[in-house]
Formats: sequence, C-alpha cells, structure tokens
Amino acid sequence: MRYLILSDLHGNLEALTAVLESAVGEYDRTLCLGDLVGYGADPNAVTDWVRSNAAVVVRGNHDRACAGLEDLEWFNPVARVAAEWTYTQLTPENRSYIAELPKGPIAVDGFQVMHGSLLDEDEYMVQPADAGQAFPYLETSLAFFGHTHLQGGFEWAHSRVRVIGRPAPGQKETFLELDPENAYLINPGSVGQPRDGDPRTAYIFYDPSDKFLLYRRVPYDITTAQQKIHNAELPDILAHRLALGR
Ligand code: ZN
Repeated sequence: MRYLILSDLHGNLEALTAVLESAVGEYDRTLCLGDLVGYGADPNAVTDWVRSNAAVVVRGNHDRACAGLEDLEWFNPVARVAAEWTYTQLTPENRSYIAELPKGPIAVDGFQVMHGSLLDEDEYMVQPADAGQAFPYLETSLAFFGHTHLQGGFEWAHSRVRVIGRPAPGQKETFLELDPENAYLINPGSVGQPRDGDPRTAYIFYDPSDKFLLYRRVPYDITTAQQKIHNAELPDILAHRLALGR
C-alpha cells in the first residue's frame, strides 16, 4: 500500500492539481494531515477533493477556525480575515464535514498521523528540542505531522534528534532511508503555502513495505493562485508569500 501524504493544503487548488498530476499512478491511498482550508481562494474545490479521495484526514487549526469552531481572537489579523471569508464561502456540506474532522493523532497501518504534535494538535514542532519532547510519546517508530509548513522532520537515534533535510531548490525529490533502530517524525511540507523558502508544492510518498520514504517538490501555477486571492479581495500578503515560499 503506497500512501500519498498531504498537509496544509489551505484552499490552494492550483497546488493540489499539480500534486495530483505529478503523482498520478504512483499511490494507492491519500492521507491528509489537516488545514484543508484557510488562506487560499478555493476552499470548496479543495475540500470536495479531500472528501472524495482521502482515506484518513485529521483536522488542523485553520479547519476549526474556518468551520466556526474557534474564537478567532488569537488568530493573527490576516489569518482571521481569511478564516472569516472562508467560513462564508464554504457550502453547508463542506462546513459540517470540516467541523466534524477528527483530532489527531490517528493510527494508520503501523504509523501515526497528526496536525501539530502528539499531545497538542496546535503545537509547532520546528526545533529539534520540540521533536525531542514528542518522541517519547510516539506509539510507533514513525509518525507524520504538518502545521509548520516546513518539509523534512526529525530522526531520533541514540537519544539524539537529527534534523532531516528536504530536496534542494531545483531538485525534484529525495529519499530518506528508515533505520528500524530509530524513530521518525516526518513532515511532508505544505501543499498550499510552503514556508521553507521553496515555493514549490510539497508532499511525500510512503509504503510501509519499503525501508524508505520519498520527499517531492513540484512547481505549480502560482500566478493563477495569486490572481484568485486578489479577485477574492483576500489580504495581498497571502498572494505575495506564495511566490516567496515564506
Ligand atoms: Zn497550516
């Protein structure tokens, strides 16, 4: 069973389309680590696709916000404007689908999936120390998380945390060998709003029968995604940052 693992789609249909075109025929099931919506201009089209195609989906903080489950006071002003706009755009069916998404972590086929961290779905695991606190709570030697929009993750080996890199700019993909002695917290990166300095959309393939996983980056039609954000009168910064990957 080969999994396509996606996170932080954020209503970016152009990025999702590029992912699917580049991955066609290479996977059996899709997993989604949350933040289907918020920021991007196509919340319904992205949600429709996830509803019909993802085998397992956990919710993200933007999903809660855009479904009306969250007090938006603590959101930054740009995220709040986008969440309010998304709430009004979502069809009733999509809004209730998002509102009912389960909280991670969820066990799948010998590994776990979550949005933020194991104990707190809203926690950002950015630094090795963040991952170091999470590793003892892993129920399996492998888990996938999102939320930071940074492709890569962490390896736990001999009581130390090692940072895992991502494909270099211009490089399409990298393999990560999985040592059965070690544990892994893996971030597929963000489909719809990468923030690791590489504007290309990001995802992962993983097959539990293999001893490795595959990180991939793919260019997409950023200009169209930006134009839709402008047309929706969402904050300019949401369009601008797509080109920067930040
Ligand atoms: Zn996100």
